[in-house]
Amino acid sequence: MDYSDKDWTVQEDRFDLEKARLQEALFTLGNGYVGSRGILEEGYEESYPGTYFAGVYDRAKGRSFEIVNAPNPLSVQIYVNNRKMSAEQMRIIKHHRYLDLKQGMLCRRTVYEDGSGRYEYESRRFFSMADPHVAGMMFSFKSLDNDKEVRIQCKIDGTTANAMQAVGSAIKHYRVKERFGKNNIIYLEARTGDLNLRIGMASHTTVRPQVGLQTSIDLSQDSIARNITFRARRDRCYHFSRFITFFTSRDKLQDVEKACFREIQRCKKRGMEFLLKRHRTAWEGKWRASDIIIKGDRGSQLALRFNIYHLLSAAPPSGVDASIAAKALSGEWYKGHIFWDTDIYILPFFIYTQPEIARRLLLYRARRLTQARRGAKAQGFKGALWPWESASSGRDETPEEWVNFDGTVIPVYNKKREHHIAGDVIYALALYYRVTGDEMFMLEHGLAMVFETARFWASRTVFNREKGGYEIKNVIGPNEFQECVHNNSYTNYLARWVLHFGVKLNVEFDCKYPDQLRQLKKKLRLSQKEISGWERISENIIFLEDRNGLIEQFEGYYKKRKVIIKRIKKNGMPVWPEQVKLKDVKKTQLVKQADVILLLYLFSGDFSLQEKKINYDYYRKRITHKSSLSISSYAVLASELNRIVQAYKYFTMTSRIDLNDIHGNTYQGIHAASLGGAWQIIVNGFAGVRCTARILSLNPRLPHQWKELKFRISFRGVPLEISVTKKLARVYFLKKSIRTSKKIDVEIAGEKVRINYYSGGIQKRHPAAVIKETICRR
Ligand code: BGC
Repeated sequence: MDYSDKDWTVQEDRFDLEKARLQEALFTLGNGYVGSRGILEEGYEESYPGTYFAGVYDRAKGRSFEIVNAPNPLSVQIYVNNRKMSAEQMRIIKHHRYLDLKQGMLCRRTVYEDGSGRYEYESRRFFSMADPHVAGMMFSFKSLDNDKEVRIQCKIDGTTANAMQAVGSAIKHYRVKERFGKNNIIYLEARTGDLNLRIGMASHTTVRPQVGLQTSIDLSQDSIARNITFRARRDRCYHFSRFITFFTSRDKLQDVEKACFREIQRCKKRGMEFLLKRHRTAWEGKWRASDIIIKGDRGSQLALRFNIYHLLSAAPPSGVDASIAAKALSGEWYKGHIFWDTDIYILPFFIYTQPEIARRLLLYRARRLTQARRGAKAQGFKGALWPWESASSGRDETPEEWVNFDGTVIPVYNKKREHHIAGDVIYALALYYRVTGDEMFMLEHGLAMVFETARFWASRTVFNREKGGYEIKNVIGPNEFQECVHNNSYTNYLARWVLHFGVKLNVEFDCKYPDQLRQLKKKLRLSQKEISGWERISENIIFLEDRNGLIEQFEGYYKKRKVIIKRIKKNGMPVWPEQVKLKDVKKTQLVKQADVILLLYLFSGDFSLQEKKINYDYYRKRITHKSSLSISSYAVLASELNRIVQAYKYFTMTSRIDLNDIHGNTYQGIHAASLGGAWQIIVNGFAGVRCTARILSLNPRLPHQWKELKFRISFRGVPLEISVTKKLARVYFLKKSIRTSKKIDVEIAGEKVRINYYSGGIQKRHPAAVIKETICRR
């Protein structure tokens, strides 16, 4: 087996049962249509096979919809003289596994020993990025010391269930409806409990050399397997090649079964090598658009690629109406629900690197506008309230109860109070519009989303005569330690901005597309008077900022008990102050995750450096980073403040949240928001990329050990390459991009230039290198 480049592989050098589930999450393979945890094919006691199809959700009685853990199609059971080759029945004497990020492939070599001999097992598998309904497996078996009777079972295992439940016991969301073997192909079909969705899987295996083989079909409980029995000669390698195909009734097919069989036939015709080539080429294309090169820091390089790999493997392919869940497709924790994680943390990566995927993710929201309207109505408001947690229908799926960090089960109020989601969805849409200039999307979907959300905020705010402004009461802000506060600054600012954005778009589209706008407004029954009302409210929403620029997180925050973070762990995480019990945290100023700091980052251009500095210093002493969404905002703000040492530490933490299992819960699935956060630290933080109005601006500040940072983005339909060294910033039209007459306005460290294809681009000295770095105290 050849080991690929170290900058592209995440390695495992021994099999550790304690870490097995963590590795499964890290080694997840996927193509956005399906995700599959990195189990060993033969299984082990703690093994948690997870196979998730984007958008396939089901609900057991009385609970919310959750992503279905489908049958496991990867199972390969090997019996040597009737003894199962697994960690329970044999000894693992050698084990090496690696995830090849470049090729989207999981590769391994394991040597087992059972007292009478040693057996070598190798495998490589992939979920095709080019053919979303296909997975391929190549594995081999060798008896190293003597001849043995061997039975290999290639299995589709229908005994899986959603067993990782925060509250309550395991739920099996499907029943196996069909199992049969035909023409050396095995097929299993499952139906989900509530929606009766069909999930079909077929598998076909060939063996080389074919001498003395016997095959049979095995139907054990809820599973189907093809047995291949033979006498393995000492030191002879037996190679197996397995195609797996899958479809669900969400693919809008007449017949899931036929589709699976047809796809197997196509695989057989094309052959494994050809499928692999297509898969590799598709990954190459993905990396071409989104790789980031960091020169001078190999650890950061690999960690960053790990983050990008998981983003890419979770992105729904064309034709799939789904979004990216909080754990992507690497686990079922948080029920596979879509949170604001996608809009604020994940979408920017796609907006800048692959806008067609960003569009798909926004379409997921747009298609559920009617449900969002119902959501607002159900809570007594107008317009559209996007669900705090969303699955396939677009209804709010937030569960009633959840487990806290200390294991206690607590009621969940987020659906009724964490209303900033309404602004988050629109923030992502606005960024997409700014970066791509996609007016058609706005006309078809975006304007209605913005107008209906502005309507929601107008009805959500209440005028307070005494204070002379509009208030938003009873909310949960990003800092979820506080579960019912008034005038959370993040929420109020976002609401203000959405209302203002609605007013602005009305003017802009009235100039550009007056007829279409008129029609839309008629359909929405939106009057000029209502829009003028938005303007009035937006100008008068209460925002708690004092004269020095310090922003109070919510009304009464300063009156909470002052508890300061005094110690930091080796891995950079704050040490929880011993005197504070989790149940009392709401009485203190401790903050769960970036709240004011996130606001300052998202609306960076609206706040001065002084405002950023005072708030950063204040809240950094109170932040616990108990959510993986937190650290990246602190990192970007630290880099804006030129505290690069601190920003670099935060980058290291964010990019390794899963690799180093910083929160101790990666076994439940990778933290998808933080994947996007790591990318934002690099592009928006260290390179200082911002997109305001029609200008792309750069304000680079590199960590001292980095020699160069290089990446690609797409701005207004033009692919650009950006590279930053300590002294120079270059923005170039991509050489291979089609000739375009487009001109682009770029601002490097405050200086504006216009570039076009013929000039190639621009190279400038940037002054950041000469600004003295602020000494970091903590
Ligand atoms: C965070 C939320 C986040 C959710 C899913 C929670 O712990 O506080 O902000 O949306 O996890 O990642």
